[in-house]
Amino acid sequence: MSEKDHQPTDFIRQVIEEDLKSGKHKEIVTRFPPEPNGYLHIGHAKSICLNFGIAQEFEGQCNLRFDDTNPAKEDVEYVDSIKEDVRWLGFDWGDNLYFASDYFEQLYTWAVDLIKEGKAYVDDQTAEEMSKGRGNLQTPGENSPFRDRSVEENLALFQEMRDGKFGDGEKVLRAKIDMAHPNMNMRDPVLYRITHIEHHRSGDKWCIYPMYDFTHGQSDALEGVTHSLCTLEFEHHRPLYEWFIDNIDVPSKPRQIEFAKLQLTYTMLGKRNMRFLVENDYVSGWDDPRMPTISGIRRRGYPSEAIRNFCHNVGVTKFKSTHDIGLLENEVRQVLNRDALRFMAVLDPLKVIVTNYPEEKVEEMDAVKNPEKPELGTRKVPFCRELYIERDDFMEDAPKKFFRLKPGGEVRFRCAYWLKCEEVIKDENGEITELHCTYDPDTRGGENPPDGRKVKGTIHWVSARHAVDAEVRVYDRLFKEENPDAAEGSFLDYLNPNSIEIKNAKLEPGLGEIEVGETVQFERLGYFCVDTDSSDDKKIVNRTVPLRDSWAKIAQKS
Ligand code: ATP
Ligand code: MG
Repeated sequence: MSEKDHQPTDFIRQVIEEDLKSGKHKEIVTRFPPEPNGYLHIGHAKSICLNFGIAQEFEGQCNLRFDDTNPAKEDVEYVDSIKEDVRWLGFDWGDNLYFASDYFEQLYTWAVDLIKEGKAYVDDQTAEEMSKGRGNLQTPGENSPFRDRSVEENLALFQEMRDGKFGDGEKVLRAKIDMAHPNMNMRDPVLYRITHIEHHRSGDKWCIYPMYDFTHGQSDALEGVTHSLCTLEFEHHRPLYEWFIDNIDVPSKPRQIEFAKLQLTYTMLGKRNMRFLVENDYVSGWDDPRMPTISGIRRRGYPSEAIRNFCHNVGVTKFKSTHDIGLLENEVRQVLNRDALRFMAVLDPLKVIVTNYPEEKVEEMDAVKNPEKPELGTRKVPFCRELYIERDDFMEDAPKKFFRLKPGGEVRFRCAYWLKCEEVIKDENGEITELHCTYDPDTRGGENPPDGRKVKGTIHWVSARHAVDAEVRVYDRLFKEENPDAAEGSFLDYLNPNSIEIKNAKLEPGLGEIEVGETVQFERLGYFCVDTDSSDDKKIVNRTVPLRDSWAKIAQKS
């Protein structure tokens, strides 16, 4: 690409290019700063792809930094899962793994500096009093009665806070900025609070913890981050971010830039609500394949490439918008259509007896492994006298346009033969238990017979004698409402009661060899992934996505 043709793909990359061109920065450093208080979700993937993607494109560096300043909610379990998820998405932080908790001593020193300069003070007010004194958008706040404490008194009190002389919430350290500032975040924000809780890394070393705002920008500065990319809700925090950078002797001056969060239809992101679903058993865990967590969609069989493609395609803007989850599912289909091996599987089996086929005979039929990759060649699929077909591929009182199997009708069994339904066998309740069919030996491989007769339908099947049993979990959207977060009432009212359906399926024998985590195509049905719950005795398979977007079809019809 020539210099002239090259256009930055979004406003952030544009800023970065200008900063490189002007010489403001020689190397670009970004960071992904998760708080280890839950599992990552698809929204975080957008931030990961943005931060790590920029570092790759501009040959810079992206740090993984855990923003672990709130010991009450954080845990190593989350640290480990976040690392695994970032790696799985295809990114690498190299040696640049950091924890905000490693900066506690430096942050404390900086807080002391602010006190010495008369820019911070210890406040004894209760949380309620402070909130009242802060005013609101129409009314300016009022100065705290403790605002004019001497530097000496503040230094002594802050040291005592650190030494554990006070209980939780008894005192805070606040910046002395402006209680009448039009931006509420600038009205003497809290810098430190007292919390007597052990930290998952620093143990009981600290009982005062810095607030997010007092931590984030300085951590960026310590790491030499050039562009600190965050979501729009931090826009109003930017003046404070800059106030700290300007009023503290930091080693570098990062710039905060905000972009719009990723939001998806039929999906609820946000750790708080996801935790609620997990803790109250609405789902089986953070990695339930219906969850929009990275671990959930990985387990469901989404390839990481599809997620990267999706994040790339939705782009980065300043405008709040919600993307159709169908777009993500389409990216999944595209990658899997290219890569997934094909197999046959019957989710809702109906027995077929081929009455004119010899009892002991077995033929190995040739079937293409992946039509998108002809170089992979073919696989062998056993055919014998007893088969299974999908129950809904047969219809007793079929309308004219029904081109699958019906009494007296003939249909192609994929890569095998043409079969004709001669007799329908039922039990005492009138339930169909078996079909008796005959096959035409002149149609081997599914070829047209010499007499020129035609069939319209092709169906999939599995040899009953060779089939592998499996539990197939057919997933659908977790919510039936487009925007469960914003809809009236609780999001629980909008849970889809049919978001999981269990099928006792019969699989083509080759599927017995497919490993946990691998995603394949079940012909005519969709993409399926072997689940981590599988054991040697029992195969468990997740439906990743159906072949087509059934929701789009419903929308078209109505
Ligand atoms: P949530 O509460 O939804 O889990 P969070 O912002 O509290 O999100 P953090 O761990 O603090 O979670 O986020 C780490 C990074 O990911 C932050 O830079 C944050 O802005 C970004 N991020 C979080 N949610 C989204 C989203 N939906 N789209 C894009 N980036 C996001
Ligand atoms: Mg958060």
